[in-house]
Amino acid sequence: MAASPVVAEVDLSGRGRLAGHLRVPQSRDDSGWGTILVPIVVVANGTGPTVLLTAGNHGDEYEGQVALLDLARSLDPAQVQGRVILLPAMHYPACAAGKRLSPLDGRDFNRCFPGDPFGGFAASLAHFVDSVLLPLCEFQMDLHSGGTGMDIVPSAVGHVLDDLEMQARTLAMADSFGAPVTLLLREVNAGPTLLAAAESRGIVALSSELGGGGRLNPRNLAITKRGVRNLLRHAGVLEGAPEPGDHGPSRRMTVPDLGHYVFAPMDGIWEATNQLGATVADGAPAGLLHRIEDPLAPPIPLSYREAGLLWCVRHAGRVKAGDPVAVIARDL
Ligand SMILES: [Zn+2]
Repeated sequence: MAASPVVAEVDLSGRGRLAGHLRVPQSRDDSGWGTILVPIVVVANGTGPTVLLTAGNHGDEYEGQVALLDLARSLDPAQVQGRVILLPAMHYPACAAGKRLSPLDGRDFNRCFPGDPFGGFAASLAHFVDSVLLPLCEFQMDLHSGGTGMDIVPSAVGHVLDDLEMQARTLAMADSFGAPVTLLLREVNAGPTLLAAAESRGIVALSSELGGGGRLNPRNLAITKRGVRNLLRHAGVLEGAPEPGDHGPSRRMTVPDLGHYVFAPMDGIWEATNQLGATVADGAPAGLLHRIEDPLAPPIPLSYREAGLLWCVRHAGRVKAGDPVAVIARDL
C-alpha cells in the first residue's frame, strides 16, 4: 500500500519527552492544503519495549483522554526504559466536538482500521496508526468508555484468541491494568477496530470500557490513571510491580452472546430498575419503556434474559428502537 500522507511532527525515535502533532491532510473549501493537528507525545529513554496508549478513539469518552494527558505531563523520562507513545485525543475532530463520531463525515473511527492512506481524514489517520505506529510496538491499549449513551463497570476488554500464548499474555496485561472487571469477548465484527488491527500484528493488546455517561467520573479516572502506569510497570517500561486497586483483583467475565443484552423494542424513555454493577436474576424486571406518543398506555416492561452482573446500562434517557438498554456479564 502507498506511503502515509500523514506527517509526524515529532521524532518517533527521539529521546526524552517530545510533544508535537500528527499533521493529517483535510482539504477544505477555504484551505485546499489544510491539515488537522492530532496531538502526540513520545516519552523515551534507555532500552526497552514500546507501548502505544490511545484515547479519544471516540470523542465523548473522557477517562482515557484525561488519564493520558496526566501521563504525558507526569511521566519522568529518566524513569522510563523503552518508549511510550501517547495519543490522548486520537480522533481529534470528534474529541474537540465531544462526540462519539466525526463531525467531518460521521465516521466511527473504530470502524476505520486498518485504514486507507487516501480515504479521507479518518481512514488516513487509521492507516498511519496501523502501518507506522503499531509496527513499533510490543504493547497497545485503546482507552474507551461508554460515551454519552452508556455507562459501564470499569473494565479492561480483550478478545478470545486462538493463540493460547497470546491469550495468556493478554490476560496478564489485563490483570496488571487492574480494572474491577476484565471482560473477554469473542467479537463477531472486530475486523475494523484498532484492537483487531493490533492483534493481527502480533501485539499484546487490550481495549477497555472505563465508565461513560458523557462525563468524567473521578473514581473511574483514578482507576484509569493507576491502570496505565500499572501497564507500563507490567511491560518493564517503569520499575516496580503493578499496584492493586481497592476493589481487589480484576474479576474475569464475559458477555457470551446477544441473549445477555436487553434491547428497546421501540422508541421511548428508559427507566432502569437497577443501578450499574447490580447482581440481577434471569427474568427479573430490567426496567420500563415509557411512550410519549400514547399517554394512556402503560409503560412497556422489559426483563433480563440472563443472570449476572449488570455490566452496562443505558445512561441517556431517550432510546430508539433497537438500542441496548442493559448488558449482563457473567463470570468466566
Ligand atoms: Zn469507544
